[in-house]
Amino acid sequence: MNPLRTLILAAAGNNAIRRVVATAPVSRDVVRRFVAGETTAEAVEVTRTLVREGLTVTLDHLGEDTTDEATADAVVRAYLELLDALDEGGLAERAEVSVKLTAVGQLLDEKLALANASRICAAAESHGTTVTLDMEDHTTTDSTLRILAELRETWPWVGAVLQSYLRRTLDDSRRLAVAGSRVRLCKGAYFEPPEVAFPDPHEVDLSYVRCALALLSGDGYPMFATHDPRLVRLVGDRAAFYGRKPGSFEFQMLYGIRPDEQLRLAQLGHTVRVYVPYGAEWYGYLMRRLAERPANTAFFLRALATKT
Ligand SMILES: Cc1cc2nc3c(=O)[nH]c(=O)nc-3n(C[C@H](O)[C@H](O)[C@H](O)COP(=O)(O)OP(=O)(O)OC[C@H]3O[C@@H](n4cnc5c(N)ncnc54)[C@H](O)[C@@H]3O)c2cc1C
Repeated sequence: MNPLRTLILAAAGNNAIRRVVATAPVSRDVVRRFVAGETTAEAVEVTRTLVREGLTVTLDHLGEDTTDEATADAVVRAYLELLDALDEGGLAERAEVSVKLTAVGQLLDEKLALANASRICAAAESHGTTVTLDMEDHTTTDSTLRILAELRETWPWVGAVLQSYLRRTLDDSRRLAVAGSRVRLCKGAYFEPPEVAFPDPHEVDLSYVRCALALLSGDGYPMFATHDPRLVRLVGDRAAFYGRKPGSFEFQMLYGIRPDEQLRLAQLGHTVRVYVPYGAEWYGYLMRRLAERPANTAFFLRALATKT
């Protein structure tokens, strides 16, 4: 793995660094490039702008690794408030939510996470929108897929996420490529050991292609989450090869990353969904984005150096 990526991911777990970054005055400006804001109102405002531009949205209330029930409950209530606000703003048809199960109690008790995720799914259904379960580090994959299966018994539209860096993912892609199954394919953003994940980025890309083909040739609704121009092109070509029309799959990208490309794809008639994170707990999310791309890190460090 790239040493800079290792360093930044290590910093993500370091409390002293967390304090410095989170309180530096410039952090707020930099964070706003990748995060919609800290409040529901700000998240809804950003959603409205994106929808007006012809994009669709999935919103993530930032936070993960919740260690007590009260916090997990507060996360659920944040999602319920968000879903209300999206509906009131007439945005629920174009904007869904993404949920991290560790934020709603998965590390405490799988049943608690299932119950909390169910509350969010029920609210999403009543507001006419959907939920996707983000995928976190590999120690949670089996549990997340179990909870997904349970949720899909009641809400078959609940979306899954698969990460191409995991060696297991081709099998999971084949298994989930069934009618009605919404599956987001991404490369994966966590620091994983070589026993479970491909250490070489080229292998991760090859795996992405294999998994994409499995999803495109199946009967589900694949959602290709990547900014990688080669993969975007390849997915477009292969989708045409498999006779998939725009609307039978979608592209997804992160808020603030390649916005021009998001608009270009939407103008070609594709469904493009922007992943919009918001909330006070932006630190871990920002660190993962910085770890992915040295240019982002340089931008951040330059801003810190010139403004603090
Ligand atoms: C919608 C969405 C949801 C996600 N959900 C999850 C999840 O649930 N779990 C999880 O583990 N991960 C998730 N991720 C993160 C994902 O796993 C990757 O870490 C992240 O998307 C970076 O991988 P990439 O495919 O964009 O390619 P990378 O290998 O990071 O980049 C490939 C190429 O893309 C282009 N590119 C990348 N970033 C930029 C940039 N900032 N500006 C310009 N060009 C750029 C460059 O040409 C680069 O060479 C999600 C990503 C997206 C887009």
